[in-house]
Amino acid sequence: MTLFKIIRIIILLSVFVGLAFYAKNQKLKSRSWTEPLTVVIYRMNGDNNSRAVNEYINELDDSVFEPVERFLQKQSEKYQLIAKQPIQIRMGPVLTVLPPEAPLAEQGYAAIIWWGLKFRYWAFKNAVDSESNMRRIDVFVLYHETVKGRSLQHSVGLDKGLAAVVHAFASIDQDQQNNIVIAHEFLHTVGATDKYAADNSALFPVGYADPEQSPLYPQSKAEIMVGRIPLSETTMRMAESLDECVIGQQTAKEINWLPADE
Ligand SMILES: [Zn+2]
Repeated sequence: MTLFKIIRIIILLSVFVGLAFYAKNQKLKSRSWTEPLTVVIYRMNGDNNSRAVNEYINELDDSVFEPVERFLQKQSEKYQLIAKQPIQIRMGPVLTVLPPEAPLAEQGYAAIIWWGLKFRYWAFKNAVDSESNMRRIDVFVLYHETVKGRSLQHSVGLDKGLAAVVHAFASIDQDQQNNIVIAHEFLHTVGATDKYAADNSALFPVGYADPEQSPLYPQSKAEIMVGRIPLSETTMRMAESLDECVIGQQTAKEINWLPADE
C-alpha cells in the first residue's frame, strides 16, 4: 500500500466518523425535548406546474399546519417534557427544484443508500435557511392534484436525517389528512417506527390507541404510526384528522418521551 493510499483511507475514515458523530449528536439534540423543535414546511408543486396546485400552495399559510403543533402539544402533556410545546411549525418558501425520486423497496438497500445521499445533497442545496439545523426538521411537501381514485407515492421520513418528503393532495378537503401524514413523517424523523402489518392492519398492542379497551372493538382513535382506526378484527377506517389520532406508548418510548424499558 502506498503512502498516498493510506492517507486517502485515513481521510475517508475521518469523514465517516465525523458524519456519524454529527448525526448522533443531531439526533440526541432533536430528541431531548428541552426546547421546541422548529419544523419548516417547504411547499412544492408535484404535478409539473399544474395551475390548480400552484394556486393552492400559494394560498397556504401557517395556520393550515396548526393542528400538527396542537396535536403534539396535547399528546405530550402527560409526559412532562421540559419543552411545553414540542414543535413550532413555520412555512418555508415554495421550492421549484424537486427532490430526487425515492427508490422502491424492491430496488434494494444500495439504491436506498444512494438515494439518501442524493437527497441530503439536494436538501443542503435547496433548503436554504438561516437557523441552526441542530433543532430544525425540514418537511418537504409535494402537492398533487386530487383525482378520484388516485393514490400517491409513499411519503418518507428519514430516521436521523431530520428531513421528510411528504406527498399530499392540493385540496382544502384534504388538509386534515395531509396533517396526519405530516405528523406521522415528522415522528419518523425523531425515531418513531410504523406500527402496521403488510396488509395495513394495526399491530396489536402497539398499533392500537387503546389496547386495553374492553371490548377491544371498535376503537375510537388511531395510533399515529398506523393512521387507521381498527373497527373490528378485520375492518378499519382512515382517521379523518389528528383529533382522531393519539401517540401510543411504544411511539412515546421511541421518540424519547418515555424512558425505553431495557
Ligand atoms: Zn410511516
